[in-house]
Amino acid sequence: MSSKEEARRLSRAQLPDGLRPETLAVRMALAPSQHGENSEALFLTSAYVQPDAETSAQRFAASEDFTYSRTSNPTVRSLELRLAAMEGTEAAIATSTGMSAILLLCMGLLKAGDHVVCSRSVFGSTINLFAKEFGKFGVETSFVSQTDLQEWREAIRPTTRIFFAETPTNPLTEICDIRALADMAHESGALLVVDNTYSTPALQQPAKLGADLVMHSATKYMDGQGRVMAGALCGPSHLIKDVFGPVLRTVGMTLAPFNAWVILKGLETLSLRMKAQSEQALAVARWLEARPEVARVYCPSLPSHPQHELAMRQQSGQGGAVLSFELRAPTPEAARAAAFHVIDSTRVLSIATNLGDTKSIITHPATTSHGRLSEAQRQAAGISQGLIRLAVGLEHVDDITDDLLRGLSTLPSL
Ligand SMILES: *Cc1c(COP(=O)(O)O)cnc(C)c1O
Repeated sequence: MSSKEEARRLSRAQLPDGLRPETLAVRMALAPSQHGENSEALFLTSAYVQPDAETSAQRFAASEDFTYSRTSNPTVRSLELRLAAMEGTEAAIATSTGMSAILLLCMGLLKAGDHVVCSRSVFGSTINLFAKEFGKFGVETSFVSQTDLQEWREAIRPTTRIFFAETPTNPLTEICDIRALADMAHESGALLVVDNTYSTPALQQPAKLGADLVMHSATKYMDGQGRVMAGALCGPSHLIKDVFGPVLRTVGMTLAPFNAWVILKGLETLSLRMKAQSEQALAVARWLEARPEVARVYCPSLPSHPQHELAMRQQSGQGGAVLSFELRAPTPEAARAAAFHVIDSTRVLSIATNLGDTKSIITHPATTSHGRLSEAQRQAAGISQGLIRLAVGLEHVDDITDDLLRGLSTLPSL
């Protein structure tokens, strides 16, 4: 049974075809229980009572329906149906975190001797997972430029199985051309995997641009209010059900039902939040660009962004809600002191290392998200000591800029 048929069989009130993403984000789920609840139920159960031994045997053999919650759970299943519908893929599989989604990807698709081509600007733990953890098992990864297609092409080997990209990147918001990478991956018999955490399907649907698999840290915008950890892979049934399903069942990077339920509710407002936070980020970025203390602002919706046009085309005309800016300073030490001063002068923004929250978050990437990289890796990724990342939330935009001004206006003059 294809996922579409399964969704039809299971989804509430037999939704009609052709519904738009905003509608699917609110409506797609398993059918309600016998009580007819309007909000999807939270099923906190590890096992499922079977009607008889024969049915039990069939369900265990086919891995269909519900047997044990490491394998599948109705609340998690509703989330998977909704995610697949929103990404426009046949199926989805939910995981305990974003990193465990990448672990599942690697365990499902790679073996010793295989090769991965990955942007060198991806999330720090993603670099470690490929280079260090899977390096131990004989998988080699070539890290290449986020934006130079020629580097991707030159890195291809006969053993290349996966192209892994993330767009826009954290914290410099570099964009890669998903369609061009998909074509190149397919010519060489590899799969393109896109980490869509930053844009979410509300802005960008990589599968429609040729990506084979879409990966998520649902911890970020999908939750949207910074509560729980979750991840997912979205893609064709033959990979999700036949390749990743059995690995997840065996290894157990399963998503907890409570966390699935929180994300399911978060998805209902995803598109509103993404648009609003993206517009606020552009307003803050414009304000920062006019500040004398700021050397450079990284935000895809600014016309000064080197890939502004590609970003607007690929991301539904929105830049996303993450921006970064670099402070003017004569030395790395002075830059770090200035960044710490601006961060420590805030009274509204949260000093934290997360994003995707309705609360705006300010971060010093060089000592947090990218703190475990070597200095050489950090420089290759372009993360300087004067760089500050801002994940813009839903506070009034003037309160956000006022909060930044506290530190910017009191920096020691150069
Ligand atoms: C946070 C993040 C991850 C890892 O997700 P977790 O849910 O924290 O495990 C992967 N990719 C990107 C782009 C992220 O921002």
